[in-house]
Amino acid sequence: MLRSPISDTAAPHCRNITASWPRSLATSTSNFQLTYLYDLSLDANLWLAEMAFTPRPLRDLWLLYTVLTILLPLSNAVQPQQLLRPALDASSKRVAVIGAGAGGSFAAYELRKLADEAGIPLNLTVFERASYIGGRSTTVNVFDHPAYPIELGASIFVEVNYNLVNASRDLGLTVRAADHARPRESDESIGIWDGKQFAFTMKDSYSWWNIGRLLWRYGMAPLRTQNLMKEIVGKFLRLYEEPLFPFQSLSEAAAAVDLLNTTSSTGEAFLAANRISTLFSREIIQASTRVNYGQNLGLIHGLESIVCMATDGAVSIDGGNWRIFDGAVKAANADVKLATTVTEIVRGDDGTIRVTSHPSDELDSPQSIDESEFDEVIIAGPLQYSGISISPPLEHIPDEIPYVKLHVTLFASPHQISAKYFGLDGKKDQVPETILTTLPEDLDLGQNPHGVGPAEFWSISTLRTVDYSVVKDGEEQHELHYVYKIFSPERPTADFIANLLDIDYPESTGSVITPHANTTIGDLPETEISWFHEKLWHPYPLLYPRVTFEETLLAPGVWYTSGIESFISTMETSALMGRNVAALMVQLWKKQEESKSSSPLLSLKTEL
Ligand SMILES: Cc1cc2nc3c(=O)[nH]c(=O)nc-3n(C[C@H](O)[C@H](O)[C@H](O)COP(=O)(O)OP(=O)(O)OC[C@H]3O[C@@H](n4cnc5c(N)ncnc54)[C@H](O)[C@@H]3O)c2cc1C
Repeated sequence: MLRSPISDTAAPHCRNITASWPRSLATSTSNFQLTYLYDLSLDANLWLAEMAFTPRPLRDLWLLYTVLTILLPLSNAVQPQQLLRPALDASSKRVAVIGAGAGGSFAAYELRKLADEAGIPLNLTVFERASYIGGRSTTVNVFDHPAYPIELGASIFVEVNYNLVNASRDLGLTVRAADHARPRESDESIGIWDGKQFAFTMKDSYSWWNIGRLLWRYGMAPLRTQNLMKEIVGKFLRLYEEPLFPFQSLSEAAAAVDLLNTTSSTGEAFLAANRISTLFSREIIQASTRVNYGQNLGLIHGLESIVCMATDGAVSIDGGNWRIFDGAVKAANADVKLATTVTEIVRGDDGTIRVTSHPSDELDSPQSIDESEFDEVIIAGPLQYSGISISPPLEHIPDEIPYVKLHVTLFASPHQISAKYFGLDGKKDQVPETILTTLPEDLDLGQNPHGVGPAEFWSISTLRTVDYSVVKDGEEQHELHYVYKIFSPERPTADFIANLLDIDYPESTGSVITPHANTTIGDLPETEISWFHEKLWHPYPLLYPRVTFEETLLAPGVWYTSGIESFISTMETSALMGRNVAALMVQLWKKQEESKSSSPLLSLKTEL
């Protein structure tokens, strides 16, 4: 039996991919729209996308890229061999990156690229507390079988998230439609459940019938939302380019692109101010903010609400999104210290930084301490969860902010989702394969962070089917099992799962998801639940309205990527911040070099 208990860390991966240096990480953004929809199944994305987007093919860029990759080697062939540029400084820059998620791996990736371009010798060390690379982007295998990896954390990015898209391409990874494995057995692909009824359901995302129904129900709201989203995404993408990139202050950069008016109010107020109807906001946009961020429009700020609707071309990496970050770290040619926790950072008077680390499973053992000296340190994960003590205190100490508490429950079962649970007549009305949720019309939970309401879960997705072999009467038999993912603020009880799948569960009390439940999915028989994996995450912050964001440079030599999470919290934005910090650092090194050569006695340290 392949069943696993609730875990705090995902299982280690066997990760072997060939990493090659990216030909071009930075590309023009003009043809791109940035999109962020998370954990909707792809159908949800396609559906919302249908309302929200005009597709923007990358064909021109691909063509340019292909032509360049053919022509460049030819042009090199007829030129004399280029001499390597001399190093700016004889001694290597020693950089520690703490955390190998999207932010840390992209910081390392970009640093190596920029340092190589500038001829700066770089000695890069990546510390990662977990035994795997990827952070909140990680997979588990159904039945522990490598043929069935499924995302436990960040599951989707979009073809126009160009940091991720470019890296996937340059690292030779295979990008697939995020829902390529969805069974498609039900005609109903998506339903919005408010705890009492399905407020809206969709059949086939591309049918004109659906578009007609959308317009009939919501009037101009889908089009208005699309236009608003495009405008906001266009502003956001200016952060990717000079003169704003790289930006030292996210608050100033956000002001410069006129986005603070979107983060300063709740999604509800922002959408109303932009004449998006309450019906569309509640049923569609809020379903999206709930599945993506576990938050209602009365809490989450306007920027994150609207980027939830930027959903064009949701994709994931074959085998797991973590492969992007794994490839990036490999390409960075860093000394990677997995299962190693940084516990202390001490900033010396001479500008060097001492980093103390331990093997993650020997945190209490004084013998296992390792100390190394660096010139710069990048903290690439929320400082509040890092457990690092820093002395002397930082000039800018990031505020501790509340994060969402999300239970992710993955499981396999021979049963389909029960129509009865949703009050449907299974013969007439099929259960949608993806169930998103919203609040009922008469319930306004405002800024309540516990905003799940009567639905009690954020989403349930049917991910795929798997082949389950059982021995019955001495013979091996194959059964088709469905794999599901539930997002909920509390741990699902055995009762809830039994009711959801209409499983006969004699101990049932009829309760659904309850805090401190004393039964769990593991209490159900193996014949009903053939595999499961549970994980409690702090996946993203509660995105209350705000107009200031944490600094990128917390103290001389101490950099921070996670301030961007209160602005937009995604793999793409963490990757952007990783690149941003790397670019700022190299800019400073160059400045230091210039000032040294103009005044050799003056050696600048990074300035705040
Ligand atoms: C369930 C879930 C679903 C999500 N869905 C999506 C999605 O579909 N699309 C999307 O774009 N985003 C999604 N997200 C959000 C996305 O995962 C994050 O925004 C992004 O991965 C954050 O990357 P990061 O590098 O900033 O942080 P992390 O991924 O958290 O990386 C930080 C790393 O630092 C390490 N670390 C921390 N402290 C120390 C220390 N003291 N020493 C050494 N190492 C340390 C941690 O172990 C961790 O690996 C989802 C997240 C979750 C959990």
